[in-house]
Amino acid sequence: MSDDQDAGSRFPVVGMVGAGQLARMTQAASIPLGVRLRVLAGTGTDSAAQVGADVRLGDYHSLDDLLAFAAGCDVVTFDHEHVPGQHLAALEAAGVTLAPGPAALRYTQDKLAMRQELTRLGVPCPRFAPVAELSDVTRFADEGAGWPVVLKAVSGGYDGRGVWVCDDKFAAGEVLAHGIALLAEEHVPFRAELAALVARSPHRQGAAYPVVETVQRDGVCHEVLAPAPGLSPAMAEEAQRLALQIADSLGVTGLLAVELFDTGGGLLVNELAMRPHNSGHWTIEGARTSQFEQHLRAVLDLPLGSPRPAAGQTVMVNVFGAQDPDLYDKYIHVMAADPGVKVHVYGKSVRPGRKIGHVTVTGTGEGGENLLALRDRALRAASYLATGKERGE
Ligand code: ADP
Repeated sequence: MSDDQDAGSRFPVVGMVGAGQLARMTQAASIPLGVRLRVLAGTGTDSAAQVGADVRLGDYHSLDDLLAFAAGCDVVTFDHEHVPGQHLAALEAAGVTLAPGPAALRYTQDKLAMRQELTRLGVPCPRFAPVAELSDVTRFADEGAGWPVVLKAVSGGYDGRGVWVCDDKFAAGEVLAHGIALLAEEHVPFRAELAALVARSPHRQGAAYPVVETVQRDGVCHEVLAPAPGLSPAMAEEAQRLALQIADSLGVTGLLAVELFDTGGGLLVNELAMRPHNSGHWTIEGARTSQFEQHLRAVLDLPLGSPRPAAGQTVMVNVFGAQDPDLYDKYIHVMAADPGVKVHVYGKSVRPGRKIGHVTVTGTGEGGENLLALRDRALRAASYLATGKERGE
């Protein structure tokens, strides 16, 4: 080992299982912290594998690969929630420090267990029931939930999907025919979807970011508006309180993103993620501490950074691949057209519908006009990057 490596060796090594864009952006955050990030990548071309100095190739389905990866890491964390539960338990039994641990991660892998546990904790959720056959779904609808009924895969999904909005029993029957474990949920007529992002460290320090609005299309997040426009301070505080309560009750180490429905009259928790989250990408430019830095600080039990906003209003828009596989010319155009737009590219090959990057625009947030203008600039940039066209052209 060279002297330079020795000099840095008292700084910990964080292992991150998965090498997608979340690991790639965590890599960027690790550099100024002086923390060494090791990623477990499926292939050398994965998003984070392209940029890391310590990339191990392996399969997260293989316990041997996971154990080999964890050796020499001070703590192991995740850029996705797909590591099999029995492997998480085996890693923990082998003395590997996992952040978050298997007991918490279970609630990101099993939506029924998540609903049941949140309900036990008194956290408001959509009405739900486990369903095995069609009569269970019709009973659920008839006993008050009504149609449409939302069917969700308890874990994973089918053909890349895990959520189906069923207008009637025929649609529900088709989903049941896939033969996967399902739960039914009432269809919530929400005013907006929100996300409350918090960090929690093993010392039980907590930090809550401003609550954001997420705009989804076909169940996929397209835009994030930070802070959530039109959300009352009392409701924002309630969302932060719920997220901190959940993080503490489930013993989360690291980040917890809580996706919520704002029904107009109150909040219902939809979903949990225990890692950096798409709803937090805005923090890179829009907050004093990015979610990626915060996750590293939390999993290492370092004092947390300030989650306060660095701008009055921040808008993040995802970039999805379209037909043209070449991004570079369009990227130059976007930079020239609006130097205030921050473009993030994940190094992924372009395929239609694939999330390949995002753009962020920050502003003072003064006056209602400002948000509209920021949104317009971000949407324009994201649309041009994807398609070479302005919106509506
Ligand atoms: P995933 O785990 O695939 O992200 P989610 O449970 O977050 O699935 O659902 C994806 C999207 O589907 C949500 O963002 C929301 O737009 C919609 N959705 C999910 N559950 C409900 C529900 N109970 N009522 C209305 N819309 C829902």
